[in-house]
Amino acid sequence: MRLTDNRYSAERSQFELALRMINHEARTKTIRDCTGLSDDRIRKLYSTYFRNTGRDTVKRRRGKSPQQISLFVKTPLNQLEATTLIALFCTSLLLRIDTANKVHTCWPRPDVEYGHRVCRAFETYVLLHPAPKISFEWAWNLLQNISRNDELYLAICATCRARYIQDAYALDQRRCPSCEISKSSRSMPA
Ligand SMILES: [Zn+2]
Repeated sequence: MRLTDNRYSAERSQFELALRMINHEARTKTIRDCTGLSDDRIRKLYSTYFRNTGRDTVKRRRGKSPQQISLFVKTPLNQLEATTLIALFCTSLLLRIDTANKVHTCWPRPDVEYGHRVCRAFETYVLLHPAPKISFEWAWNLLQNISRNDELYLAICATCRARYIQDAYALDQRRCPSCEISKSSRSMPA
């Protein structure tokens, strides 16, 4: 009886996660990586719960996750939002930062709990930034990318000592997005 209960609750958690991720317009591959569900079952869930329900806003995304990093560092505002996401990934125990400021993943590979934590972090980010510049799939890409410590890294602001996300190949002014935004708003003509 208990075995059946456990199996039922594991399946329910898989389906709940798949629906949560479809709602965020995650790609089928990303949903599959976390839930272990087949593409066919994900497709069926999508058509049962989202198609013809009057909710035309949810799109099913196919193909690979976006890979470029420019979105995260394009403007100080984007950089600030990406940095918020990194902070939320750390508080969700998906990432940790060591004493040398390197970022490490806390999860060997995605699973259901990992997926729920990514969703929770993303949902908090959307609450903090009502017109978010980073979609779920881009947030997923950011999470995977930052723990490789190659194209993106955490820089430290010379003024306020805050950490912020930076392009490893860009010239770093050692100014975090918050200091940059307040500096440019001060220099704007009244
Ligand atoms: Zn600063």
